[in-house]
Amino acid sequence: MIERTIAISGCGIAGLTAAIFLARAGHDVRLFEKFDKPKPLGAGLLLQPTGLAVLAELGLAGKALKRGKRIHRLTGLVADGGVEVFDLDYRDLYPGLYGIGIHRAVLFDLLFAEVRKLKVPVTTGTEIITGKEQIDGKISLVDTNDNEYGPFDIAVAADGAGSKLRKAHAEIHYDKPYPYGAFWGVVDAREFDTDCLTQRYKSSRKMMGVLPLGNGGKGAAKVAVFWSLPVKDFDRVRTEGLDAWRQDAWTLWPETEPLLEQFQSIDDLTEARYSDTTLFGFSVGRIVFIGDACHVTSPQLGQGANMALLDASALAHGLTNNEMVIEALQQLEQNRSDQTKFYCRASRWITPFFQSSNVLPGTIRDIGFPILGRIKFTRTEMLRSLAGLKSGIFRHLPPEYFVPDEGNN
Ligand SMILES: Cc1cc2nc3c(=O)[nH]c(=O)nc-3n(C[C@H](O)[C@H](O)[C@H](O)COP(=O)(O)OP(=O)(O)OC[C@H]3O[C@@H](n4cnc5c(N)ncnc54)[C@H](O)[C@@H]3O)c2cc1C
Repeated sequence: MIERTIAISGCGIAGLTAAIFLARAGHDVRLFEKFDKPKPLGAGLLLQPTGLAVLAELGLAGKALKRGKRIHRLTGLVADGGVEVFDLDYRDLYPGLYGIGIHRAVLFDLLFAEVRKLKVPVTTGTEIITGKEQIDGKISLVDTNDNEYGPFDIAVAADGAGSKLRKAHAEIHYDKPYPYGAFWGVVDAREFDTDCLTQRYKSSRKMMGVLPLGNGGKGAAKVAVFWSLPVKDFDRVRTEGLDAWRQDAWTLWPETEPLLEQFQSIDDLTEARYSDTTLFGFSVGRIVFIGDACHVTSPQLGQGANMALLDASALAHGLTNNEMVIEALQQLEQNRSDQTKFYCRASRWITPFFQSSNVLPGTIRDIGFPILGRIKFTRTEMLRSLAGLKSGIFRHLPPEYFVPDEGNN
């Protein structure tokens, strides 16, 4: 293996995972993070069996499982009439298959502790904005204060949905903000400490979700509560305050009262906006894009963090197994392009059925999805899509490869 110097911009899921794989393989890795202290931003996550397999490869799946919550099922019900839109159980695809609900901070701590253990240098308070190609073909990174770092053999853009390196260098294929976003908060799980991610809908205009997250290793088990709303209504809902929001949420899903009563202020809810962003490829010259820097989707299919883990693993294997950088980047493209394209398109297609101010998609969903869920072929396809196993419309990975080996991680 050729030892390479590798800069990674961004200490999120993709950046930390790539740093661990690459440092363990013997590369000289350096991380850059715009915040003074690397920290997780955002809600709880549902990690799919494919993402879990990446954590298992790192030897971290056991810890993630202890600190998070095993999720077997995903159910969605229409409020009022109680029509079951879907009830998907990973085990119907293959016995022993499951996902993990985990607080983002818990996953971050697991990955960051490993980065520390490997003594990967982390330069914080440094916002990388561009790369500079050198005469010898290497690449340096430049921050907002015009400081230059490097040169490196390769620069990895793992700087998330708002990636500055993407803006500066990538060939953008599609980039559009979603009109809907979400408010989310984390509270004690109480009677919602189940093995199921549950959602309630009223047409596609209103949606609430509860994802069990486990207890992070100590204390009470938690859940993440998601509330879907148009981005243009964020300020109005904040101004109307906690009681008005709580009343709205309670009307949609009265059984969540034990969760809703734990919120003290509307500021306990954090805003999330997302876009639909894709690139023409994973790399431009010596800059390679992984995770949300490369593809941003709505969280409806719960695949973003999963894809970030898979990208990081594929990149590290490519760089470790190939003599030439160009071959490594071609291998990354080959390994990851089909799956990421499938999930970006599927998210674009499916999101309006759950988040739209038009009543038609919600009506089609409430009639069509239960039918699709009863047909064996389409139900299996829905389950494969959920589990992160799809690698094209007609292709998928075998589920049996992704049953966690609990004795060995
Ligand atoms: C509400 C919501 C719910 C979600 N739920 C799920 C789910 O259930 N399952 C799932 O798989 N995915 C989910 N996702 C998607 C998931 O959060 C992202 O896909 C994932 O975090 C991407 O990881 P990343 O490492 O690419 O980016 P990030 O996690 O965003 O990390 C980027 C890092 O780069 C740093 N950074 C940014 N700019 C710079 C810069 N210029 N210089 C240096 N550092 C920089 C940031 O501070 C951050 O540390 C959800 C997303 C949202 C918004």
